[in-house]
Amino acid sequence: MVMMKGLNDNEIADFISWTKHNPIQIRFIEFMPFSGNKWTSNKMFSLDEILSVVKKDFKVLPVKGEPHDTAKSFMIPGHEGSFAIISTMTNPFCDTCNRMRLTADGKLKNCLFSDSETDLLSALRNNEDVLPLIQSNIWSKKKALGGQLVSDFEKIDATTIQNRSMITIGG
Ligand code: SF4
Repeated sequence: MVMMKGLNDNEIADFISWTKHNPIQIRFIEFMPFSGNKWTSNKMFSLDEILSVVKKDFKVLPVKGEPHDTAKSFMIPGHEGSFAIISTMTNPFCDTCNRMRLTADGKLKNCLFSDSETDLLSALRNNEDVLPLIQSNIWSKKKALGGQLVSDFEKIDATTIQNRSMITIGG
């Protein structure tokens, strides 16, 4: 569930209630800037804001995560399910990120926000060895947020970001 202020932040408690008798994990995702999605910082609903809404009605306990988790998980006593928050904008987990993305058109991206891609599809069709290309792509991964976003999300100008739309990245 991509959280957007004024659009769906009033549905958080309903989704949490859904986990009471259903062994599912609801994932709330902070709204992130991608090509074409008209992101602005004032549309964001952050990790802290989500937690404060949930805590109004429920007792929230953190769940110990795994080293490369991309979401912070929580449980509510008595609920069969749980919930998690993907806080890329306010609490990114780039330090422990081991994710790579292969797009449907055969391009390798080393970060959701990378401004470059490696064309594996063409290399494969030309019978080239793709291993060095993959290694080079991994080594060029930027320290955080694809090197394109600043940690203070209120200072981000989404119009300057070079990237695809999320639906063409996948994931
Ligand atoms: S490195 Fe990129 S893909 Fe990994 S967590 Fe950070 S922003 Fe997301």
